[in-house]
Formats: sequence, structure tokens, C-alpha cells
Amino acid sequence: MLSVKNLHVSYGGIKALRGVNLHVDQGEVVAVLGANGAGKSTLLKAVSAMLQGEGEIRFKGKKIPSSPYKLVKEGLMHVPEGRRILANMTVLENLQLGAFSRTDRHGVAEDIERALTLFPRLRERLHHYGGLLSGGEQQMLAISRGLMSRPDLIMLDEPSLGLAPIIVKQIFDIVGEISSRGTAILLVEQNAFKALSVCGRAYILSVGEVVQEGSSAELLNNQTLIQSYLG
Ligand code: ATP
Repeated sequence: MLSVKNLHVSYGGIKALRGVNLHVDQGEVVAVLGANGAGKSTLLKAVSAMLQGEGEIRFKGKKIPSSPYKLVKEGLMHVPEGRRILANMTVLENLQLGAFSRTDRHGVAEDIERALTLFPRLRERLHHYGGLLSGGEQQMLAISRGLMSRPDLIMLDEPSLGLAPIIVKQIFDIVGEISSRGTAILLVEQNAFKALSVCGRAYILSVGEVVQEGSSAELLNNQTLIQSYLG
């Protein structure tokens, strides 16, 4: 579904990605793990055409379009780090906005209902402004809004960042639930153990390079690797 070949991205003189190769197949959950500054967010931004890089990125066999809007239409959604929900719009309006690329009103209404079933807390907060939600609720809204475009692949950047352990558990449970519906997930995380508990495969990034890849079981058994790169 997604293939990234020999991707290089620089910010001026800073080389953030140095020849990254990665792929995500249909329906897979794949994690990208690594310490602060490893290049994880840069990778997602390059895939969703927010940043220009050198190399080849293909989605469903075609070169990725240069506009994020077209990419959403093709079925790829990026939920960036920091949630970026619209503070002056209600939960419902944020969800409706997530469906901007769709014209099937009935399907949109069904998906809003599905999001509220997935996250009952959002139903309670439906008419509250996004800016008044807690961090955990904002993350739930960011993920739900991302799902409103009915993506085939959703990329989640650090969904557990700054959240209380009980909310982190809920978020990871939902990652499993989204995957069970057939949506592929590319998950960027610093919380390696949590991510490895929900993904099938993972890549470990260090200073812009993939230093290891493998099944989650293989990586969890590799203590040296975990201590060296994931802490
Ligand atoms: P974090 O978990 O802290 O977000 P990350 O693995 O997502 O880390 P990136 O944010 O992709 O890492 O950053 C990779 C490298 O690129 C780092 O050295 C970072 O300082 C640098 N970098 C990221 N964004 C910019 C920017 N806008 N301008 C200059 N350098 C940047």
C-alpha cells in the first residue's frame, strides 16, 4: 500500500532522513520507533507531502500527489503530533470537517456515530469547543477526525504523547480496533513497548536511518537493541 524508497529529507544543512526504506501492506499496523529527533515526524510529513524530500514514495502503486488534499482523496490520512484540533469549533464541527473530501452525507453521519461509539467521551462533549477538551479528549478527537475521511492508511504521530497512562491504554486499544476494521496504520511512537504490543512489524530509526526492522515479537526479544535505541 505504501512504499518509501531511499528517502532523504533535509532542513537546510540538517539531514533529518538519510536513505530511509519502509513499506506498509494493506491492513497492517506498522510502528516507527526511535528517540527524540530520530526523524520519525519528518518521515510522516514527507509521506503526506507536507515536506519535500528526495527518493521515491508510492501509495497504492502511484507516486504520491504533491498536495495533501489529493492524498486524503486517495485514502491516506496523517494525524500530526500535537493534535491540531480546531479550538474554536465544537467536537461535532471538527468531525464534520474531517469529512471535507466526501459528498456522501449519509455515510458521513454513520461515521460520526461510529466515532462516538468508539470514543463515548466525545459523545458527552459533542457540542463543546475543541479548545476546552482535555489532552486525552483532544487526541481522541484528532484520531476520530482523521478517520472521518475513511482512509485506507492512517498515520498517527505520537498519539500517546503527554497523556495519563489510563488514556494511553484507551488510545492503544482503539488502534487495535481501527486495525480490526481493515484500516492500515503507520504509528510513530516513543512509547516503544506500547507500540510493539499493537503492531505487527516495526522499524527503528536512529539519526535519520533505519537501524533495525522486524516483527514486533523479534524486536521485543532483542534486549540489546531496545536498550541501545529505545531506552
Ligand atoms: P520527536 O519525537 O522529538 O518529534 P522525531 O523523531 O519525530 O522526534 P523529527 O522531528 O523528525 O524527529 O526531527 C528530526 C531532526 O530534524 C532533528 O534533528 C530535528 O532537530 C530536526 N528538525 C525537525 N524539524 C525541523 C525544522 N523545522 N527545522 C530544522 N530542523 C528540524
